[in-house]
Amino acid sequence: MKPDYDVVIIGGGPAGSCAAAYLVKGGLSVALFEGETFPREHVGESLVPATTRVLSETGAMPKVDAAGFPRKYGAAWTSAESRNIVTNDFSKLAHDFGAAEILFNERDQPGVDRDYTYHVDRGRFDQILLDHAESLGAAVSQGTRVLRADFDNPDHVSVTCRNASGEFDVTARMLVDASGRQTMLGRQLKIKVPDPVFDQYAIHAWFEGLDRTALTVNTAKADYIYIHFLPIKDTWVWQIPITDTITSVGVVTQKHRFASANTDREKFFWDFVASRPELADALKQANQVRPFKVEADYSYAMEQISGDRFVMIGDAARFVDPIFSSGVSVAMASARFASQDIIAAHEAGDFSRARFASFERTIRNGVRNWYEFISVYYRLNILFTSFVQDPRYRLDVVRLLQGDLYDEEEPKVLRAMRETVTDVENDPTHLWHPYLGTLRAPTAAPMF
Ligand SMILES: Cc1cc2nc3c(=O)[nH]c(=O)nc-3n(C[C@H](O)[C@H](O)[C@H](O)COP(=O)(O)OP(=O)(O)OC[C@H]3O[C@@H](n4cnc5c(N)ncnc54)[C@H](O)[C@@H]3O)c2cc1C
Repeated sequence: MKPDYDVVIIGGGPAGSCAAAYLVKGGLSVALFEGETFPREHVGESLVPATTRVLSETGAMPKVDAAGFPRKYGAAWTSAESRNIVTNDFSKLAHDFGAAEILFNERDQPGVDRDYTYHVDRGRFDQILLDHAESLGAAVSQGTRVLRADFDNPDHVSVTCRNASGEFDVTARMLVDASGRQTMLGRQLKIKVPDPVFDQYAIHAWFEGLDRTALTVNTAKADYIYIHFLPIKDTWVWQIPITDTITSVGVVTQKHRFASANTDREKFFWDFVASRPELADALKQANQVRPFKVEADYSYAMEQISGDRFVMIGDAARFVDPIFSSGVSVAMASARFASQDIIAAHEAGDFSRARFASFERTIRNGVRNWYEFISVYYRLNILFTSFVQDPRYRLDVVRLLQGDLYDEEEPKVLRAMRETVTDVENDPTHLWHPYLGTLRAPTAAPMF
């Protein structure tokens, strides 16, 4: 029996939509099932420039450009200690104060034709990508949840879906799980592993009329993403422009801090933000235009991200922590690498796991590098700001922050950071020793 489609994709977020676009362009027939009806709200609003590569290759870039999202030329970090000394000239900042900034134009990126990316309203952005995949020829069904996948038949995979009309089955040669943090397949196969270190909690909302310069006097850079450190260990706030006047603001901390605060989520947000008074004042003068939303338990890995007739991409495969805005980029890169292997598997008529080895290796490499970068950052964030200021390492750090980290096992700068952390840990008299965070990730990232 010929299967209904070459590929079924679960989920229409950036991972699923970009995979659908690549696969249809590669000549495969694709059905994509999305449980929600778009547009739907979603966290994860600040992109990194590596996404441009995928948006260009899939042909979605002109549509994203036309949407008028705010351009993102760089990223900046502020700390409680730096608040009184932030000037128009970041180069004058002592790195000890925890402030830093980077511009994407500092490094040319192969395959990327511009020095900016976007901050996006994910409701609109995800809809553009999903509509684009459909316009290329993917059969997209919204309001349709995939309930389970059945791999018993060696010749195809069968998925059971439910929509308003009831349940139905669809068959395909290959299944791509892009179900995000719902991790549909990982849960079904019982291969999801919670992260041993990161147990984060985030609370966020949109604010109209926020003065984005509250923590920097540099108005020219007010549209960067800002990460504001709170003087509370392992805790920070994101500030992401959504439109000219709307700003997304979220507090990220360890979950146990929320539990021990023993308070409601709204009070928790305001109590934590109060530790940076200028930000708290600016927020109070702004107008909250979306209710607070919470994201928790979001760090995990999978024992395997491919198998006979399936791959997992984007958050369905792995998620660590959003500090460097890596999620959408990983989602798109994994769609890109997975599609290359799936198209080759289709040509060979062989969908066994070995066919997806290149995808699995490349994505594990990239995500391991993100993980290592994030771990070092939480362990000693002063080190990050120091490396950013150091001419020997600055471009390597910019390269990571652009999202180019899939082709090296361990970039030189990450090794140097890891070694410095070990030195500081082992020397209680080291100037930076008091700044060590409480999160102790393994010095080398875990195997999956
Ligand atoms: C607090 C926080 C802040 C973040 N900030 C950033 C940021 O600034 N920048 C960034 O790049 N990333 C950020 N991220 C990460 C980002 O949100 C994700 O990495 C990104 O959305 C992953 O895309 P995806 O396509 O894999 O999954 P998603 O975007 O989650 O899409 C998955 C889709 O699958 C659908 N689905 C799920 N189950 C089923 C099913 N059974 N059947 C059918 N459909 C299904 C869902 O409805 C959803 O639409 C953040 C994450 C968190 C938690």
